[in-house]
Amino acid sequence: MNIPDRLTDLLRRERSFFIAIHIDPDGDALGSSLALSDALVSLGKEVTLYSRDPVPEIYRYLPGWERVTNSISNPGAQISNLILIDCNEPDRTGLEDVKFRHSAVIDHHETMRDFGDIKWIEPSAPATGLMVFYLIRALNAGITSGMATNLYSAIAVDTGTFRYSNTTSEVLRVSSELVASGANPAYISKSLYETWSDRRFSLLISVLDTLEMQGDIAVMHVTQDMFRATGTAPEDTENFSNFPRMIKTVKVSVFLRELDSSSYKISMRSKGDVNVAGVAEAFGGGGHMNAAGCKIKGNLGAVKEALLKAIKSKMPDA
Ligand code: 5GP
Ligand code: MN
Repeated sequence: MNIPDRLTDLLRRERSFFIAIHIDPDGDALGSSLALSDALVSLGKEVTLYSRDPVPEIYRYLPGWERVTNSISNPGAQISNLILIDCNEPDRTGLEDVKFRHSAVIDHHETMRDFGDIKWIEPSAPATGLMVFYLIRALNAGITSGMATNLYSAIAVDTGTFRYSNTTSEVLRVSSELVASGANPAYISKSLYETWSDRRFSLLISVLDTLEMQGDIAVMHVTQDMFRATGTAPEDTENFSNFPRMIKTVKVSVFLRELDSSSYKISMRSKGDVNVAGVAEAFGGGGHMNAAGCKIKGNLGAVKEALLKAIKSKMPDA
């Protein structure tokens, strides 16, 4: 991986950084940004780590998660150095009217907007966590066991815990180094997969009950009523879109989350060569070839119909 010199120069030269991650933060966004924050602090820098949305409960084992803030001390004031992690445009962070002197982007999404004085975007990188691992090394900051836990978690989440096609020998080599530096795979897997509340599990049952098959496309949804009935929140649906992938014949899994009566947040997963980032982009969203998302306005029936039409046009046998 080729880290731009201008990025390491900026991080070495400047004193104060404002790191922002994407809305609905996932383990890669959180783990990468926490590790980078720690590394910068160890080099004597001041860091604010901003997430518009709260840290989901399942990620509250990540060392330092409490330092993630959604308040900006003086709104409207100029941020000196904005760093976007695991996303590449301010819109994805939910920051509005942000003013800054310098900006840098560290991301691995295929969907790119033209933003940032310094862009380090590697669509072939399995996780932003892997990029941040190399960046921390290039800055000569030591990898503490806290950073190792954050980076291992970031990589684990974006590779389906070493199951997806982005699980390369490099991923395993770096993860092995992270284990040597203090990451505990069993503890991390347990924290990620075996700590659900019974409310969240009830929500999953309700959601699985909505499953419809349209050929090799699986469609499920969640409504505001289902959240109310189970006492859960949108963050509790993370990863739900992956479940139908367990069905052998499923090529694409679609999950629709009701935002209000006339708009839905869409989460798509695919197996093999169906490019769901392309589908999401057609609706103003984006992501990766096998995992992407967008927002669509309309009622459930209309949104499903528009989406299925777009997905079918991307299927190899369309
Ligand atoms: P998820 O389905 O887990 O929310 O997101 C899957 C992938 O698509 C993640 O990498 C996420 O960052 C990206 N993604 C989800 N929603 C959007 C969106 O509205 N716009 C863009 N550009 N990317 C998205
Ligand atoms: Mn990521």
